Amino acid sequence: MRFDIMTLFPELIDNVLGESIIGRAREAGIIEVNAHNIRDYSKDKHRRVDDTPYGGGMGMLMAAPPVYDCYCDIPKKEKSRTIYMSPKGKLFDQKKAKEFSGYDQLIILCGHYEGVDQRALDRIVDEEISIGNYVLTGGELPACIVVDAVSRLIDGVLSDPECFENESLGEGMLEYPQYTRPYDFMGEKVPDVLLSGNHKEIEKWRFKSALELTKKQRPDLY
Ligand code: SAM
Repeated sequence: MRFDIMTLFPELIDNVLGESIIGRAREAGIIEVNAHNIRDYSKDKHRRVDDTPYGGGMGMLMAAPPVYDCYCDIPKKEKSRTIYMSPKGKLFDQKKAKEFSGYDQLIILCGHYEGVDQRALDRIVDEEISIGNYVLTGGELPACIVVDAVSRLIDGVLSDPECFENESLGEGMLEYPQYTRPYDFMGEKVPDVLLSGNHKEIEKWRFKSALELTKKQRPDLY
């Protein structure tokens, strides 16, 4: 799968998505992440991309021409979707991540300052996506969150697909608590059932624990 991220801060994207599992998936060619610098499309001699909003008001707005030109320069795959990271968007969740993982290409526009001129958004964006009910300074971290959540659903990114089949939110509930060595930590021992070797009982315990945890921590999902 290919991700094309339109941003004023390409280094930020490469730094965040250059490490660990996602970094290795990029190196292995399982996913491709291209950060495109919108500033390269500015026609201004100082490479400015922002201007004051018509009608007055605080702050600066990213102008339509460099955003649009940057978008036009990105080669498009057949199954491609363009999203704009925005606090006004639909809340991102595991279901959305799964949906996006079905595309060949995700083009992500990151806003900055007070956002982006509406005319550019109207021409290129299929969907606005928010990562939560709060306002950040830019769309770069939200974009990295989307790329991370979607990438780990792509075949070959995780070593074992079971990793995400059983985990939190996969089946609409949270994952059960997990333990590793040592057996005894500060007097607290690992639940006996997990050492029993009885897989049926372990499955039952995990399901019950997941249900209890979901009821306690996410009653909205329960
Ligand atoms: N003036 C805008 C508004 O009130 O909707 C907020 C602009 S915000 C300061 C700058 C950029 O950060 C946005 O264009 C967007 O790309 C990104 N951003 C901020 N909060 C976000 C969120 N919760 N989810 C996704 N992107 C967000």
